[in-house]
Amino acid sequence: HKVRYVIEFHNVHKTYRVAGKDIPALHSTSLRVESGQVFGLIGHSGAGKSTLLRLINRLETPSGGQIIVDNEDVTAMDANGLRRFRQQVGMIFQHFNLLASKTVADNVALPLTLAGELSRSEIEQRVAELLARVGLADHAKKYPAQLSGGQKQRVGIARALATKPKVLLCDEATSALDPQTTASVLQLLAEINRELKLTIVLITHEMDVIRRVCDVVAVMDAGKIVEQGPVADVFLHPKHPTTRRFVQEDEQVDESEQRDDFAHVPGRIVRLTFQGEATYAPLLGTIARETGVDYSILAGRIDRIKDTPYGQLTLAITGGDMDAAFARFTAADVHMEVLR
Ligand code: ADP
Repeated sequence: HKVRYVIEFHNVHKTYRVAGKDIPALHSTSLRVESGQVFGLIGHSGAGKSTLLRLINRLETPSGGQIIVDNEDVTAMDANGLRRFRQQVGMIFQHFNLLASKTVADNVALPLTLAGELSRSEIEQRVAELLARVGLADHAKKYPAQLSGGQKQRVGIARALATKPKVLLCDEATSALDPQTTASVLQLLAEINRELKLTIVLITHEMDVIRRVCDVVAVMDAGKIVEQGPVADVFLHPKHPTTRRFVQEDEQVDESEQRDDFAHVPGRIVRLTFQGEATYAPLLGTIARETGVDYSILAGRIDRIKDTPYGQLTLAITGGDMDAAFARFTAADVHMEVLR
């Protein structure tokens, strides 16, 4: 099938000028986001994530370069063009940004009321559909203060979807939520992406968020994208030091500590990464039997990257025909890293 890009950055950069000083927030950046993709941007505070996100719907004006969204040149739009364009790009926020004095239904209706294209009854019907979609059909008449954090973000999502946008921007949308609520909001975003074929760009400082919903990830550091690719590739085989740190935070292990722990363990130490079908194949036992090696499992994890299962095992291997065992792992499409 033919790939269509919904968002394109061509040499886009952004410098803020504060009190006569230039603050470079985004160095010259080019990127493309495919239609229907969930594209994640991860980085520490100050890396330039919000700046990049806000350039997409021109909440920030670029200092240079060209931004194309859904075949329209965002950089060249006048005020009228921009108003129309912003209906194509929904946005949700860390602190939800709901109007406290309006009911849930009125918050969701707001973008439709402002657009002025639908009748009152059409708006009511659309709001009812949206609230049902995000699981809040029974909460239409409540006020934001009566809702939990997760429910508030669901209202935010319904409001962002009201004008049937092509793109949804998520600005640290789960950072204020507890882990369980985070999981349910991310699941809702994944469903919306799948069912509406809506392109999503999200920013986060948590690798777990990327792992659960994103197809592609870009890692940002000091105003630059330092690593980019399919989530499984970047997550399982991180190259840049910043990416490695995010992955380790997600695994909650300190690699140097772990290596010290293994000092007394005899044999070679390898880390195996299984993906997809290989995750469930009984490889370890088979290969050990056939090559005569012994192994002990030092660390392990089985989890999912979006819909793909993966496993990562750190093994100490002793005896037998080690080279044959290593060759068998490699032949079975298991990624092998010799740690010692
Ligand atoms: P992140 O979202 O990754 O935390 P930001 O895009 O907010 O990063 O910030 C990138 C850099 O730009 C930081 O140095 C920040 O201080 C600066 N910056 C962001 N917004 C503004 C602004 N409105 N005015 C001046 N400097 C800003």
